Amino acid sequence: MKAWQITDANEISQIKRSESPSLDREVKVKTTKAMLSKDDITLYNGDDKPAYPLIPCRFAVGVIVEAEESTNGYAKNERVYLDPISNCKQCYSCTIGQPKDCSRLNIAGINAEGFMKDFAVVPFESVYPLPESVSDKDALFIEYISLAISVIDKLKIQKGDHVAIIGGNVVGNIIAQLIIYYQAVPIIIDDNDTNLEIAKRSGIYYTLKADGKLEREVSELTGARMTSKVVYVTSCGINTEAALKLSRANATVAFVGFNYSNIRVNFTQAMQKQLRFYCITNGYGNAEASINLIANKAINLKNFNLLSANFSDVPKVFKSGDDKLKDEQEIYNCVIDMMN
Ligand SMILES: [Zn+2]
Repeated sequence: MKAWQITDANEISQIKRSESPSLDREVKVKTTKAMLSKDDITLYNGDDKPAYPLIPCRFAVGVIVEAEESTNGYAKNERVYLDPISNCKQCYSCTIGQPKDCSRLNIAGINAEGFMKDFAVVPFESVYPLPESVSDKDALFIEYISLAISVIDKLKIQKGDHVAIIGGNVVGNIIAQLIIYYQAVPIIIDDNDTNLEIAKRSGIYYTLKADGKLEREVSELTGARMTSKVVYVTSCGINTEAALKLSRANATVAFVGFNYSNIRVNFTQAMQKQLRFYCITNGYGNAEASINLIANKAINLKNFNLLSANFSDVPKVFKSGDDKLKDEQEIYNCVIDMMN
């Protein structure tokens, strides 16, 4: 197995290791495509003091190359999605059969080994066969859609609800599309014109600029009621005050994202309005539902700005991502061709 491993801040190098699956519970997968995101660049940047060394990357698809077909039903050459999240199997929630509430989830590329490697040995429960109608590239967004499903569940989105979404990047855009799928009305708010433009192209009707007129515009859209359900995308870079201002009294605010360093919230305002907060950081348990949503063409994934690179060029991807992070520029996801 060949992998890119971050060994220290701004240091990445290739490692080689041999490993073979225990075929009674694992399969071996040749990774074919993977996607790097701002999370990975942040890990490389080192400001959050991650525990090095770590193999990065949360999103990947591949093909099964070793499996005991008689015991688990997985076939060689089957195209699969690799679930980045597994439960700890030891905490209270895990032992009482509620793994979704696990207090120590293992997340690939965060606190567990990621997928920036040519082969992955994974337990049966971490691979999901992909139907033909789901392309490799679309499958790289499964965890985003799963995160959006978690938001819909927590906020109990119902037909006709107005939902303000602060942050129109990939996370906010996919949440908005899923809200439309459930016949509610998302309002995407961002200070980035490109994100608002992509939101419009993705079929999101209400898009607002995060500026001085925002409160009044949301008030007009909602008949002065403001919103009872608000999503704040933690990677959006907009002050969290926007989320509290657009909330009516007793509203629910979901703070959502894979990446959430340096989030500050004015609790006095939250207390005054008696708001309810949810914090949602992953889409654990929703992979199958997400694959079905893609197969049913419920989410349009074609409009996002994506970079692309080969496996051999991964260090360059990190270097240029880190430069952008320092310049406070938008960091686009990068699809890695793992075969080259
Ligand atoms: Zn657990």
